[in-house]
Amino acid sequence: MRPGQLQKAGAGSTPGPQAKAETRFELLTHSAAETLEFGRLLAHELLAPCLILLEGDLGSGKTTLTKGIVSGLRLAKEDEVTSPSFALVHEYGQEKKAYHVDLYRIESPQELSTLGLEELFAQPAVVIVEWGEKLGKYATRAQFRIKMEYLASDDRKITVERLAA
Ligand code: ADP
Ligand code: MG
Repeated sequence: MRPGQLQKAGAGSTPGPQAKAETRFELLTHSAAETLEFGRLLAHELLAPCLILLEGDLGSGKTTLTKGIVSGLRLAKEDEVTSPSFALVHEYGQEKKAYHVDLYRIESPQELSTLGLEELFAQPAVVIVEWGEKLGKYATRAQFRIKMEYLASDDRKITVERLAA
């Protein structure tokens, strides 16, 4: 994806419940490798501090996309990026940083508040949140909402929304 490819959303596009999409971009990938490659390209669009919400069912490719983004940012190799489903937050990089958060197991705003997300957001980091729809009030800080959909065993639809500030 090149910078100019994030098109203005048409008048008929429906904004999500949390924030209005300013631009929207849709693509299909036909392998995990293609999703990784898209994540690497997307990384070039990101300027920290940046919050990215990832939405979509288990197996839709959220972690795979994150591997691409973090490796595209050159903060880790793609196989060093693993699902933070137990740790909930993984940190990559030293001076420049990315955080990969997984809210799958989070069931309440109280649990969410134990994660120290405020501290992450206070840093000039790229923060990528799987199950971003659970982020509640923090979601208003997001620059991107990316919805991943399973179409067939190797096919995924990826909808990228750049959110209005
Ligand atoms: P999530 O984090 O959303 O649960 P994962 O990225 O962990 O999803 O898992 C996606 C699985 O689907 C991986 O095993 C991956 O290899 C596979 N896969 C197959 N095709 C694709 C594709 N086009 N994009 C992303 N993942 C794909
Ligand atoms: Mg995952």
